[in-house]
Amino acid sequence: MPLNNLRNIGIAAHIDAGKTTTTERLLFFTGVNRKVGETHDGQSTMDFMKQEQERGITIASAAISCSWNGTQINIIDTPGHVDFTVEVERSLRVIDGMVALFCAVGGVEPQSETVWNQAERYKVPRIAFVNKIDRTGADYHDVIKQMNDNLDARAVAFQIPVGQEDEFKGIIDLMNCKLYTFNEAETIVSEIPEEFRTQARDFKAQLVERLADFNEEILELFLEDKEVPGELLKRAAREATLKLLITPVFCGAAYKNKGITQLLDAIVDYLPSPVDKGAVVGMDVDDHEKARHRNPSPKEPFAALAFKLIHDPYVGQQTFVRVYSGSLRSGMQLMNSTKGKPERIGRILKIRAKDREEVSEAGPGDIVALIGLKYTKTGDTLCDMEQQLHLESIHIPPSVIELKI
Ligand code: GDP
Repeated sequence: MPLNNLRNIGIAAHIDAGKTTTTERLLFFTGVNRKVGETHDGQSTMDFMKQEQERGITIASAAISCSWNGTQINIIDTPGHVDFTVEVERSLRVIDGMVALFCAVGGVEPQSETVWNQAERYKVPRIAFVNKIDRTGADYHDVIKQMNDNLDARAVAFQIPVGQEDEFKGIIDLMNCKLYTFNEAETIVSEIPEEFRTQARDFKAQLVERLADFNEEILELFLEDKEVPGELLKRAAREATLKLLITPVFCGAAYKNKGITQLLDAIVDYLPSPVDKGAVVGMDVDDHEKARHRNPSPKEPFAALAFKLIHDPYVGQQTFVRVYSGSLRSGMQLMNSTKGKPERIGRILKIRAKDREEVSEAGPGDIVALIGLKYTKTGDTLCDMEQQLHLESIHIPPSVIELKI
């Protein structure tokens, strides 16, 4: 699969905003889960992980994958709890983009702020999904306001809901000027009815005006009061999102299967591929002042970061790594530059839906689990034997190391 058709994303949310439900529905709509289960019926993948977490056991998975219109989406588990700040930061290093999920009633909560600021520091492009539009007290536009006031999120509505709370009937996509309504079996797409046209036109004008700030072509058309072609608008929106100039905002009610396929489209349309993300920057092993860049190409020297260790009763220890550059083959020797020890690569498991599939090689952008590594721990860099680098500072304060163990 071409690297452009890959999205490594995280979903960040305040507890109870609906991350489990949304993840579950993303899997369902991409055909991974056959049955839409209640979130708390014990059938849900992420819920299972959550229960494991609650019991204090290592969570069941570090990543799951699904495919939407020819694009593979890897969803990497982003711990939601502020106690795991180091883990959150590490997961921000291995993702290329993020869906920031908010509850339409709760809005921006203090915890959202912490993760948001971390994502800002790591320059992770974001889109926002305002969930639970169907709940009593839902206020989509106020959540956008809170995002801008409290997070300085540069949030722009790309959709507006038609009705809220019990009256939530559909979603207007401002980009393509369509109304989406839902029933159990399908999403119905239609022209925007007369009664919502003025509102849609006003919000579309705000969107165009925002994008005109960053795009000359749009600015000219805007000043001349001319229609901006959809393709131009979308391209400009993507560019502005990747440069962290805006945060496109979408809405829905995951629990009621509303807005999920549009969210999948948005992940593909606006979040970066490993190619968009560009080179990863590490440090020279001898001189930490010196930067070492690795482009997302199989021809570059190998570089990967271990971000999670999971003990599996069947296969033993799985070390989850994100590959940035070079290629990985079973049997090869790599350097763990953090520990200063060589590692022999045994089996390589690639994530496929909720399962793992054994492969003989992996390349840039891939999230894989390695079996049989001897020394590698979370946060360690694996790299080419000759051309080494550190992807993370090895000077993690001792208190943090204690937390990890
Ligand atoms: P998490 O803690 O962020 O993973 O949240 P969950 O996915 O477990 O959801 C928390 C609660 O909100 C559950 O009871 C869900 O059924 C409910 N919920 C999730 N999405 C929606 C939604 O779109 N509308 C409504 N009304 N409830 C929802």
